[in-house]
Formats: sequence, structure tokens, C-alpha cells
Amino acid sequence: MEDCIFCNIINKKINSSIVYEDDYVVAFPDINPQAPVHLLIVPKEHIKSPLDIGEDNKELIGHVYIVAKNLAKKFGIDKKGYRLVTNCGNDGGQTVLHIHFHLLGGRFMTWPPG
Ligand code: 5GP
Ligand code: ZN
Repeated sequence: MEDCIFCNIINKKINSSIVYEDDYVVAFPDINPQAPVHLLIVPKEHIKSPLDIGEDNKELIGHVYIVAKNLAKKFGIDKKGYRLVTNCGNDGGQTVLHIHFHLLGGRFMTWPPG
């Protein structure tokens, strides 16, 4: 996926400050942060959107939630709380077509979201 921004970050063709990496995911700060802590947790597999999650990906998606919890602790947003967001499609606000999870914290999150 040569023209995918996140694949290029994963393959280290584009520089980013990776804060976590394992065999399945990477995490790095969002370039346009919407909260004091705003990390993107990105599966290494190029899955385009939540609509493309299949039975084969069940373990991966569970793993993302464990990584999010651990990063929330590492970045000190576990006690007050955080939000893990996945946008899907145009109405959902998805702009990068490689599935990713926004880990947001460090401020109170309003509900309903905008
Ligand atoms: P989406 O709108 O698809 O849910 O989220 C995409 C996110 O990726 C946006 O919050 C945007 O700021 C972030 N983003 C887009 N391009 C880059 C990039 O090159 N580097 C980083 N670190 N974040 C990016
Ligand atoms: Zn990709």
C-alpha cells in the first residue's frame, strides 16, 4: 500500500514518533491533536475501515483495546478516563482509509460528540 500514509509510517518511510510497537500494531501521536493526549493506534495490517473487519481480525481488535489501556496508563490518562474512537466512512469522519483508533485523554470529553 505505497500511497497509504499509515502504511508508510508503519514501514518507517514517513517519520513519526512511534510511542509503542509490537507485531500487530503501532501507536504514534496524531499530527493534529484534539486533546492533550491524542495517540493513534494503528494495526499493521492494511484494513481499510471497520467495515472490513472480519472473523480473522477478532483477536487483533481485542489486542488494540489492551494496548489502549496500557498506553492510557503510560500517558497518565487511565485514572480520569479516556476515549477510544474509530471513525468509519464519510459521516463518521474517517479521512485516512487505514483502520485506526484514536486514544484521547487529558481533558473532559463531551457527549454527544460533534
Ligand atoms: P480519521 O479522520 O481518519 O479518523 O483520523 C485520521 C487522523 O490521522 C487525523 O486525526 C489526522 O490528524 C491524522 N493524520 C493524518 N495524517 C497524518 C500523518 O501524516 N501523521 C500523523 N501522525 N497523523 C496524521
Ligand atoms: Zn495502509
